[in-house]
Amino acid sequence: MSALRFRLQSWLTLSHLVVGLVGVTLLAVISAVIILRAERSFAASRLEDLTLTAAKSLEAPLRDYLAGEVDLESLRGALQSLTERTPNLDYALFLNNGSLVLNSRTAVQPNAPEVDEVLDAGGGPINAVRPDEQGVERFYSANPIAGEVGALGVLRLSVPTSAAQEAARPALTLLATAALGAIAATGLVGGLLSRSLARPVGHLAVAAERMAHGDFQAQAPQANSLELQRLSEAVNRLAERLQASLDELRVFVANASHELRTPLTTVKLRAEALRAGALGDPEIAPRFLAEIEDEVDRLGRMINDLLDLSRLETRLETSRFAAIDLGELAAEVYETFEVRAEKNGLTLKHAIEPGLPPVLADEDQLWRVLMNLLDNALNYSPPGGVVKLRVVNLPDEGKLRIEVQDSGPGIPPEELGNIFEPFYRTENTRRRNSGSQGSGLGLAISKVIVKSHQGQIGVDSLLREGSNFWIELPAQVGE
Ligand code: ADP
Repeated sequence: MSALRFRLQSWLTLSHLVVGLVGVTLLAVISAVIILRAERSFAASRLEDLTLTAAKSLEAPLRDYLAGEVDLESLRGALQSLTERTPNLDYALFLNNGSLVLNSRTAVQPNAPEVDEVLDAGGGPINAVRPDEQGVERFYSANPIAGEVGALGVLRLSVPTSAAQEAARPALTLLATAALGAIAATGLVGGLLSRSLARPVGHLAVAAERMAHGDFQAQAPQANSLELQRLSEAVNRLAERLQASLDELRVFVANASHELRTPLTTVKLRAEALRAGALGDPEIAPRFLAEIEDEVDRLGRMINDLLDLSRLETRLETSRFAAIDLGELAAEVYETFEVRAEKNGLTLKHAIEPGLPPVLADEDQLWRVLMNLLDNALNYSPPGGVVKLRVVNLPDEGKLRIEVQDSGPGIPPEELGNIFEPFYRTENTRRRNSGSQGSGLGLAISKVIVKSHQGQIGVDSLLREGSNFWIELPAQVGE
């Protein structure tokens, strides 16, 4: 379990980190490029400004030097005082004929295309970025030193471009720190978020595992996301339904065992009595043997009904469905009970609406349902009672309704919900009719059949007044 949680959490954290890493790195690189470019263009324009100011300030000293009023050293002093505050700055002063007068790098004979350009163009400034004689990239700026008529000379200043990189260093360091902080924060937030997602999934898995081991009391926890909450609720509903099915199964097994044991007990008792001597009694022996036969028949019926019920529940044979006339079918079933009703001292009536629309049904199965309802009605009604069979059309609802009403003992309201369960018998029936011929499966089978016809079955009952069992089936329209 913890492996699942670990994996989910790690994956989510990792994906957050990757997204953060890529995004922040991209932003940091773009920002670094912008900062470096800004620093370079700032350094170049500062050099240009300095060259311009220095060239202006050198006008008088150069004029004096050319007039022979000051020597070269004082001209150098003037130039140095203008440039000494800028680190790594090189200077070179040329006369208007292109000859070099002063050079900060005495060992190097400068190559000065910018100066030639100024002299050719007759003005400046001329700026350039290029490697120097030693291959070091530098910013260059050359500007004429004006005299009364034309330029007296050209001043060229230069600084290495690495100075701009140096100037950008604090900003770049800050940027890198911020980027690292952002990545760390992404990882942290990702980790926390992933944990909050992975934890309920883990709890859900624990609950599902407990359920898988048969503990349906286990509850999937509340989750903080909509989808997980839906999943939790679905798992809980599944557990509830499984529990209900198991409960139903337990009740079924208990009822089935009870119902199957009753005839077996009778058979055993009668067989023991016969062995103990009743076999020789010409009066008792045939009676006991007949009882044994009855009970064995009853057991056989129960087993057949049970098999039918299981078959009907597992598969629906719609291939045998055809449009049938329910009125006709009801009349036929009715006729089969007329003699028995009379024999039992009961009045059997029918009210079958003419011209009913057909229903799509398996005729044999519906026959079985009607037989069962009428059989029960006749069984549970005392002599002198009345049993009515009704079939009506409910055109507004697109249904046909069959009712079997009796004047029997009725069914207590608290038992109405159970009588369609297999082997269920009402308290009253159990007490009065322990040796009933019924299998206790008739209503359960009827319910499955009616359901397979997309219909509904139910009962309304009043104690001591009688019951009214009803079925509603969809009418076939357009015929
Ligand atoms: P059974 O073979 O016992 O009749 P059913 O499934 O047909 O089995 O009926 C289940 C139980 O419902 C019966 O045992 C009886 O207690 C009750 N029952 C069914 N029909 C009626 C009825 N018309 N009046 C009173 N109780 C009924």
